[in-house]
Amino acid sequence: MLFKDFGLDTRLMRSFEHFGYDVPTEIQERAIPEVVAGRDLLASSKTGSGKTFAYLLPAINRVYQRRALSRRDPRVIILVPTRELAKQVYGQLRTLLAGSRLTSALILGGENFNDQHKALQKDPHFVVGTPGRLTDHLEKRHLYLEGTELLILDEADRMLDLGFADSMRAINKAASHRQRQTIFFSATLDNTDVSNIAEELLREPSRVAVGHGS
Ligand code: ADP
Ligand code: MG
Repeated sequence: MLFKDFGLDTRLMRSFEHFGYDVPTEIQERAIPEVVAGRDLLASSKTGSGKTFAYLLPAINRVYQRRALSRRDPRVIILVPTRELAKQVYGQLRTLLAGSRLTSALILGGENFNDQHKALQKDPHFVVGTPGRLTDHLEKRHLYLEGTELLILDEADRMLDLGFADSMRAINKAASHRQRQTIFFSATLDNTDVSNIAEELLREPSRVAVGHGS
């Protein structure tokens, strides 16, 4: 199987050429069709297996191919546990969006709050952020998530370890559209806290576990 066989938007496939990958990893091969089909996804696979493109590609594909649920709210929220990971994911997202009219913002703890407020006032289509800081902006009503159609949690187990459970719940509650789709990645799924929050956030998810026999 090749990336071109997923039938993704041609604009997206053109920008993805920058990375030079033709063959998907196993997690990409199994996760991408589930997300493209509109299903919630509960997935795990080990570090370095290519999870970032497993969610970025179908997320961007959805934004290109479907009409927005609202005019102003971010269409896609990507939650990650740390600043470093957020910057990495944001860099890949920016490359994939290069040359398109789609916009994005990076919302991290430890950075200037007012600058982030200004960035959110421009109504970005994609927001990548850490849960704590994003919740701060939600509480100040710097953004609304009623029209958000895709919520992605990357390294959800680490977000829980870092004490972000309440922030994750607040963001989940704010992203209240009934057509919302959720993607949940965790290094492990056989952990009570992880399965409890997955249960709260996901609706009849497809389950994909790669490389640890579960
Ligand atoms: P994970 O989130 O599972 O730890 P990443 O998404 O960070 O993995 O990807 C790990 C590395 O693999 C990155 O350098 C990425 O560019 C590379 N990569 C992603 N997809 C592929 C692919 N299909 N073929 C080869 N390398 C890939
Ligand atoms: Mg990762």
